[in-house]
Amino acid sequence: MKRVLCIDDIAENLFTIKALFDSYHNDKYEILTAQSGKDALEILLTKKVDIILLDVMMPELDGYETAKLIQKNKKTANIPIIFVTAKKDNDTITNCYVAGGADYLSKPYNEQELFMRVAFHLKLKDDEKKLIYEKKLAQDILNLQDNMIAVTDGNKPIVANQALFDFFKVKDLDEFIEKFGCICQNFLKDEHYFNLDKIDKGSFWIDVLIGRLESRECSVMMMDLSKLKPRSFAIKAKKIDDNYLISFTDITSITIESNEYKHDAFHDNLTQIYNRNKLNAIIPQFLNNIGTSYDKFSFILFDIDHFKQVNDIYGHLAGDSVLKQLSQIVKSHIRDNDIFARWGGEEFVILLPNIDADKAKDISEYLRGIIEVENFEVVGNITCSFGVSEYKVGDTQEKLMKKADDALYKAKENGRNQVVCQ
Ligand code: GH3
Ligand code: MG
Ligand code: MG
Repeated sequence: MKRVLCIDDIAENLFTIKALFDSYHNDKYEILTAQSGKDALEILLTKKVDIILLDVMMPELDGYETAKLIQKNKKTANIPIIFVTAKKDNDTITNCYVAGGADYLSKPYNEQELFMRVAFHLKLKDDEKKLIYEKKLAQDILNLQDNMIAVTDGNKPIVANQALFDFFKVKDLDEFIEKFGCICQNFLKDEHYFNLDKIDKGSFWIDVLIGRLESRECSVMMMDLSKLKPRSFAIKAKKIDDNYLISFTDITSITIESNEYKHDAFHDNLTQIYNRNKLNAIIPQFLNNIGTSYDKFSFILFDIDHFKQVNDIYGHLAGDSVLKQLSQIVKSHIRDNDIFARWGGEEFVILLPNIDADKAKDISEYLRGIIEVENFEVVGNITCSFGVSEYKVGDTQEKLMKKADDALYKAKENGRNQVVCQ
């Protein structure tokens, strides 16, 4: 049931209009009547009204003034007003709309026209309410998401959710645009992440981004302003008409975890140098790249002499500290692109790209000399034996290692603390 408030200073007019609605639309409308603007305002204070039919010429408050007062009050401002007046001149018609009327109807009116206009404006209001509700609902749904979400035209966001405002420490969209402009300007420049430096001149960043998303995952890095630390985000984006919907999922912890996992998988826990897994992964790469990245490489296998005795005499912990100290010394005396790994126990491997057997032998001799004179904590002096092999065409990983292992065996057999080249 919709409520119609009819305002007219002539009681007969009110009687007629009420009788009309009651006889044709008794089930749809409840008709309230007021004989003056003042009475109408009083009714509006206590009763919810859906639409107003308002006479123009009335003593004291006329229709225009009444309309203004109705619109001044927040509670009644949105009720549609249809002016119903006997005046038909242009000024009156204009004034009705200027005074905020939704429509104008001249007396005497056609009753069907009156009904249709009332129904039309009520539907318009309902549609408007629905639209406002849906917009609010959409914003509420967006705000419930932990992901940052924005709709952008590519230059600035048009809609964004609370998660985005919180991350950028702004209260609303206007403040975001004022302080940060386009979201793309906040992508940090890092070679592993999508950012504006990675876009050719003349290309539109978001089209490039969507193009990349089709072929692979794409992520960006943005600065967390409260912690002043960068965070990484996975992106989903979609073009909708002329705009783009874009969402950012914080994957910082997953990225850190996966980096840590990668580190753990390829590093030795005790010495923090590479482990056997790393060697097994990288030796095939060395074998594949021979002839392109470098034309030769050598393999050194070395082993601490009589390490069992070190453990027996000084204890396992002292033995551990020897392994750590030895790793640090060797690491600090080889090149950054040499691969140094703990093969297991007290055996170590060094892969040397672009180094032939003669040079590898010299390097081994040099390392052997450094180790020999190093003062190890608790234990004092230790020595190591070295086996060296150089890659030869057709060598497999097993062959390469066997050659070094045989050389190391000879070094041990010959009295230890020496280098043998196979
Ligand atoms: P060689 O000169 O012939 O190499 O004699 P070695 O005593 O060094 O060789 P052996 O293979 O007989 O003994 C290796 C020792 O290394 C035995 C083992 O307890 C010790 N070892 C292996 N891994 C670790 C470790 O992580 N920590 C400690 N403290 N000792 C280890
Ligand atoms: Mg040993
Ligand atoms: Mg051994």
